[in-house]
Amino acid sequence: MYQKGRAWIELNMEHLLHNVRQLQALLPARCAMMPAVKANAYGHGAKLIGRSLQQMGIRDFCVASVKEGIELRNAGITGQILVLGYTSPRDFSDLAEYGLAQTVVDYPYAVQLSGYQKPVQVHVGVDTGMHRLGERSENTEEIRRIWDLKRLNITGVFSHLCVSDGMTEPERRYTLEQIQKFWSVVRFLHGNGIHGFKIHLQGSYGILNYPDLACDYARVGIALYGAFSSPQDRTVAPVSLKPVLSLKARIECVKALHAGEGAGYGLSFTARREMRIAAISIGYADGIPRGLSNKGHALVHGKKAAMIGRICMDQLLIDVSDIPQAAAGDEVVLIGKCGGKEISAGDFAKEAGTISNEILSRLGERLERVVGKG
Ligand SMILES: *Cc1c(COP(=O)(O)O)cnc(C)c1O
Repeated sequence: MYQKGRAWIELNMEHLLHNVRQLQALLPARCAMMPAVKANAYGHGAKLIGRSLQQMGIRDFCVASVKEGIELRNAGITGQILVLGYTSPRDFSDLAEYGLAQTVVDYPYAVQLSGYQKPVQVHVGVDTGMHRLGERSENTEEIRRIWDLKRLNITGVFSHLCVSDGMTEPERRYTLEQIQKFWSVVRFLHGNGIHGFKIHLQGSYGILNYPDLACDYARVGIALYGAFSSPQDRTVAPVSLKPVLSLKARIECVKALHAGEGAGYGLSFTARREMRIAAISIGYADGIPRGLSNKGHALVHGKKAAMIGRICMDQLLIDVSDIPQAAAGDEVVLIGKCGGKEISAGDFAKEAGTISNEILSRLGERLERVVGKG
């Protein structure tokens, strides 16, 4: 089947390689990237992205769930795959079978993992202030006792920064405190004769704003895809990143909308003048937030067209009154470049009142993923 018939994602793997090089150059030589390819590689397609990164020399990856880890293994990923989230004891067998590393979310969970009959590889999560997963950093005895447990192959210790994207004085101070708490746990373990584990702390904004930390891994997500959570971050970033993903659809039909007529469910849009409108083959089931009804934009023939009316499950309407050449079958760009114009994932997200991470990770299963120039 033709993959660009209805609605699709174009992946620019040259941009991916560019981003890998830019981010790696920012990090100390000993620090390897451990890309976050959770949520279908932030909507890009985990198999395609995982395989490409592996060809580019990236070995190890992190995911959110066992299922995502198994998918990567089945796609031929051979390095370490760390499950960042919770895994039910019923799925511990899959950890062992597929050779996945599991995050230890706290001491009691380590005991549960140790109760499984086969050895399991783990990274110990340390909570330095985000207060999500990880044993609290001041509970050093609990952390140390994890090494006394049987059948745990502990290959990593890590924490997660929660305000590393913010550059205000309090945010910087909080992040530096998190970093200090992490180092003191690492020092405590070394002081107790515990060695041989890798350490990691940074996500994308940790790399961009605190690149010099002496870690073994950086768990890079959004930046690797060439997106910033918010569009203004592009201007302050120490590297130039290129977007890997473009999101496109087709004009299904073009028609007149007469002054005074409504359009779409609920007739939430009313034409104030004679208009030409186009129906587009993408909707909220593909990941276009319904909240963009009467609000969002798309690019057609290098021009910006406003979304009008309610966004439907599979379709949406745009105003092409000022784009006379717009015709059925034409390409529409929701995220990406078109002529001289661009809507970045960050711009798109800002219009929808969220961050690009959410927009990208919710892009639907139904979209085709095509490797191309974007
Ligand atoms: C998702 C995630 C990352 C990657 O975050 P980005 O900000 O997208 O780079 C890193 N670490 C953990 C624990 C995560 O959950």
